[in-house]
Amino acid sequence: MKANDKDAKTRPNAVDAAVLERIKAAVGPKGYTIDPAEIAPHCQSWRDNWHGWVPMVVKPANVDEVAAVVAICAESRTPIVPQGGNTGLTGGGQPHAGGTEIIISTSRMNKVREIDTLNNTMTVEAGCILADLQVAASDADRLFPLSLAAEGSCQIGGNLSTNAGGTQVLRYGNARNLVLGLEVVLPDGRIWHGLRGLRKDNTGYDLKQLFVGAEGTLGMITAAVLKLFPKPTEVQTALVAVPGPRAALALLSRATETIGEQVTAFELIQRRAIDFVLQHIPDVTDPLSNAYPWYVLMEVSGQGAPDSLRAAVEAILTDGLEQEDVLDAVLAGNQAQARALWKIRESIPEAQNYEGQSVKHDVSVPLSRIAEFIERADLALAAAYPGVRCVAFGHIGDGNIHYNPAQPLGDDGAGFGAEYGAINRIVHDLITDLKGSISAEHGLGRLRREEARHYKSSVEMDLMRTVKMALDPNNIMNPGKVV
Ligand SMILES: Cc1cc2nc3c(=O)[nH]c(=O)nc-3n(C[C@H](O)[C@H](O)[C@H](O)COP(=O)(O)OP(=O)(O)OC[C@H]3O[C@@H](n4cnc5c(N)ncnc54)[C@H](O)[C@@H]3O)c2cc1C
Repeated sequence: MKANDKDAKTRPNAVDAAVLERIKAAVGPKGYTIDPAEIAPHCQSWRDNWHGWVPMVVKPANVDEVAAVVAICAESRTPIVPQGGNTGLTGGGQPHAGGTEIIISTSRMNKVREIDTLNNTMTVEAGCILADLQVAASDADRLFPLSLAAEGSCQIGGNLSTNAGGTQVLRYGNARNLVLGLEVVLPDGRIWHGLRGLRKDNTGYDLKQLFVGAEGTLGMITAAVLKLFPKPTEVQTALVAVPGPRAALALLSRATETIGEQVTAFELIQRRAIDFVLQHIPDVTDPLSNAYPWYVLMEVSGQGAPDSLRAAVEAILTDGLEQEDVLDAVLAGNQAQARALWKIRESIPEAQNYEGQSVKHDVSVPLSRIAEFIERADLALAAAYPGVRCVAFGHIGDGNIHYNPAQPLGDDGAGFGAEYGAINRIVHDLITDLKGSISAEHGLGRLRREEARHYKSSVEMDLMRTVKMALDPNNIMNPGKVV
């Protein structure tokens, strides 16, 4: 590909040529690319809202090659952007624009090293795609429960680095709860061999948890020991129409009182989100004959005989109808119907992209305050931006809501987009008032770095900076992200 003048400006190379040559020698011809066409997808984000450039994407084959590359970068002070599946939503995995950094991609490090069914663990390399790990666990008659809409492309190293949440947190916890050990290349190129499969280990600080959720700012995760669980033999999935978020929480409370931890997923969906999906995503139909203001997608699973949980779910829904917390419901009759219900939920982010500008929030509050949050945020935004179309959906069972006000109908989007900072301030002030978090599961990256600085105490920020300085004093690991 021949670069013209315009391309040359957008493809800067500010990394010393000698450094690039040393990296090439360390990883061999299969271990890097300098082809602009191959580099380009690594430099833009899933939502196409973050762009940058690097002169080289390095694709090491194993931990020793990662360590060799990081050591070269440490010596030459060349900044590194770690990258997995590049599905992150906060700009953490994108380089800056100046061409001063390199990307290290884990895409070639995708082996399952070991599955230990007695210990209920699997040891995997960072570049394994999440969906492939779910299959590997299932083939061993076990469950790896981490599940999110990007699971066909995101990688476990990225999941751990963002402490991903997803749909099963209610029962199994987020990525942080699913890891027992890590192998990490530190910013100076040394390898920390922490691949322990222990559920009890009180030998000092829990170092692995430092790297979980660090978004690549403290080191490169190269492998992990993950927890496995018994595979459910029985799953029931229902889409339940409810009058509002308060009724949804009453339903959750009743369901967990009745069947406890068998409630594995509990997702809130506002009708407007379903309308967007029906309008923009092919092969989706409305599962209920009438439209209702709010819905819950509930999944219940256990180890019993097929259909052993169906009667319990029906009883919970019947009780809900009597208490007027439930307006209508459909219980999937088979796996295909269950998948169709999940498709509605998982298509919401894509469907909303077709509706013009929206300001995305990934917030959490204590469960007891989630209805209050939605009510107060809707009122405040409607007062400030008449006609705004607020869309709330997400993991209400974890107190986590994706709250995405969209531009009013007929608006050209530019004016609404310019209100980005002001809208964030309204939503995040309210979240802080309700003792919540401005980033429940997506992380800070670049998108919320300044917001975190605005809302976190100086003590908390100092602690974070101290950790960063201790591990990466030359600031070569994903600079400009998180802290
Ligand atoms: C449609 C869609 C739905 C989503 N749903 C959810 C959801 O329900 N819950 C949720 O939590 N997230 C969700 N996400 C966000 C995203 O999928 C997750 O953040 C995912 O965990 C990122 O994994 P990745 O491999 O794509 O990481 P990347 O995007 O490649 O990287 C993310 C961050 O981790 C760092 N990183 C990546 N690999 C490593 C490594 N090996 N060592 C050190 N640092 C590393 C990067 O530098 C970057 O800062 C969704 C995204 C999309 C597009």
